[in-house]
Amino acid sequence: MSESVATEKVRTNRSIREDLTTHLLNEVQKARPASEDPTESELANMADALLRDSLRERATDIHLDPQSGGCRVRFRIDGVMHDAALLTVSQGNRLINQFKTMADIDPVHMFFPEEARRTYDFGDREIDLRVTMAPCLSGTKMAIRMLDPENVEHRIDDLGLGEVNLSQLKDWMENLHGMFVVAGPTGCGKTTTLYALLHELKQRARNILTIEDPVEYQIDGINQMQVNDRHRFTFAEGLKVMLRLDPDYMMVGEIRDPASANIAVDASIKGRVLMTTIHAVDAVGAITSMRNWGVRDHEMGTAVTVVVTQRLLRKLCPHCKYADKPTDLDQQWLEALRLPVPSEVWHAHGCEECSQLGYRGRTGAFEVWRLQEDDYALILAHADDHTIRQHLRIKGHTTLAMHALQKVEQGITSLDELKTFSGFAAPVVRR
Ligand SMILES: [Zn+2]
Repeated sequence: MSESVATEKVRTNRSIREDLTTHLLNEVQKARPASEDPTESELANMADALLRDSLRERATDIHLDPQSGGCRVRFRIDGVMHDAALLTVSQGNRLINQFKTMADIDPVHMFFPEEARRTYDFGDREIDLRVTMAPCLSGTKMAIRMLDPENVEHRIDDLGLGEVNLSQLKDWMENLHGMFVVAGPTGCGKTTTLYALLHELKQRARNILTIEDPVEYQIDGINQMQVNDRHRFTFAEGLKVMLRLDPDYMMVGEIRDPASANIAVDASIKGRVLMTTIHAVDAVGAITSMRNWGVRDHEMGTAVTVVVTQRLLRKLCPHCKYADKPTDLDQQWLEALRLPVPSEVWHAHGCEECSQLGYRGRTGAFEVWRLQEDDYALILAHADDHTIRQHLRIKGHTTLAMHALQKVEQGITSLDELKTFSGFAAPVVRR
């Protein structure tokens, strides 16, 4: 098939990318018609083919969505959902039942949400599968999250921090003390950053303890505990246990309530090194979150040493990207955010190397706030978010938006990718 014909085929199928599920569709075609019961091996082959397709495409999640007249198969790749196939109702049900069997979920159980885990061998890698099913009006929906240990062996040098941010982080690691907070919304890579720090710290032969929900990846040489709400083993309880276990470094997967916030801050004040994440729009927003949980300004001023905020940006495919002049709309968007307009911005056509997506892999955009005396003074004076952000801008602090724009200028990502982030612009808009 010539390249132009291949491109045409993809264009006509733009809404459903069947080229992402070639193994699955092949197995579906080979299976018996819906009027006959499928054999066990046919079912196993279909499930296996779907997992192989998704892993080949570097998907992190598979969704099987029942809808009127069919079952939609979708992949999340680099954070973005793609329609990958449309199966018939009976094909979709067969596949969902097979995954239930694989995950030891009772096949007749369909009225309550269920969760299960199992591992899947993919070549020489062992993939951790988290299967979640939920009864929806149109039928049973299934989502499969795939955790690949290969995706987490990141060194902090590989996160995309850039020279200035990286040196700030390394500076903290050289003089370990206080609380290291990664702030951001769900799915922005906060946990990956903490895991990268843990990998670095475990080289130092110290006692490292974590409490997580869930433990996404097991790291040799680190004592990881899992939150268990059913047994009231919360982040706060985990923190108390960690403190009794003589920790050198502690990691709390997330601070999300007053109890864990106050214990964490108290431990940091008493000299413990603690790393954690907080849901907040940006670095300064983490301070407000802690205030809302009842942490007092003078406690924060003593405990918090670094706040990082980040977003994950899809990287343009190096094989098909091209530069162009920014459009009038691009200019207006950037000017509204008081960001400089680059002379050129980058796009991608889509090619075989990137499965026609135009992007391949992700990198982080970061803001690293290493708190200084003047910052602490503002916190102690109970300055609000806006005042602290203005103060940081005036003293030349590199914001998240600025770091992301550097990646646009370098052609690592596109301006379109930046625009997709909700809340991204909030820290830099003048009020
Ligand atoms: Zn490409």
